[in-house]
Amino acid sequence: MSAQIEIGNITIHRIVEQEAAFFPALTFFPTLTRELLDEHRGWLHPRFLSAEDKLNMCVQSYLVQTPHHNILIDTCVGNDKPRPARPFWHMMKAKRWEQNLAATGLGVDDIDFVMCTHLHVDHVGWNTRLEKGRWVPTFPKARYVFAERELAFWTQRQQNEPAACPWIEDSVLPIMALNRADIVKSEHAFNDLVSLIPTPGHTIDHFSVHVGRPGADAVVTGDMIHSPLQARHPELGMMSDFDSKMAGESRRQLFGRFCDTSTVMCTAHLPQPSTARVVRWRDAFDLVDL
Ligand SMILES: [Zn+2]
Repeated sequence: MSAQIEIGNITIHRIVEQEAAFFPALTFFPTLTRELLDEHRGWLHPRFLSAEDKLNMCVQSYLVQTPHHNILIDTCVGNDKPRPARPFWHMMKAKRWEQNLAATGLGVDDIDFVMCTHLHVDHVGWNTRLEKGRWVPTFPKARYVFAERELAFWTQRQQNEPAACPWIEDSVLPIMALNRADIVKSEHAFNDLVSLIPTPGHTIDHFSVHVGRPGADAVVTGDMIHSPLQARHPELGMMSDFDSKMAGESRRQLFGRFCDTSTVMCTAHLPQPSTARVVRWRDAFDLVDL
């Protein structure tokens, strides 16, 4: 199974940190009924759903190599970080993510941009690493791209309730303090090969990243989808959503735009290979393998 995708003159690498059945489906999707899960279990199991009805998920970054830049999208959980609310992410000492980055042939010095689709705990972790007791940027030469309203929301949250979002303190604020961030609108276009697509709802100013040109393109979706069940049922929200109704509208809009095209969806959390195309399914969508 190759972790590398070639699209036109762009190469996309997946950099996996973890793969596991983390959450029970019925907890993860609060409005999912047992009846609906039963209806879909046949195709969800065993690839997307474990025998215990937990969602099989990846935690991973995407490294997009264009002719001009190396862009790292989302930075997983990271090492040495206190995450008391999530035992499986607490004080990690894992080597897998760094080994998988090295396997791409690129290193931390080669990254020009780090883009965080949103500022949840499992998308910002490798922004920083621990060095002599301090959090320093993992990517010494990179500019870090955050969406304006997303950053404002989480910095406010961190001030009001620091214990509720410890990742902002160790993985976002050190980047801000060192003036390493580029704060942009969530529809920002960087050049003719890389632009952001606003996909709000999962968080207040979540974005997806469109790379390539029509006919040879991909969308790094971030967390606008967590299970292919949300393609068939776009209104199915997940437990950490800021606004599940808005998230459902974002899914319908994005999948509607790329439905029945060759555009590759690079999802953050679907189990490997994590990539798919969008096709029509009844009044909604389905994800099919490339
Ligand atoms: Zn998220």
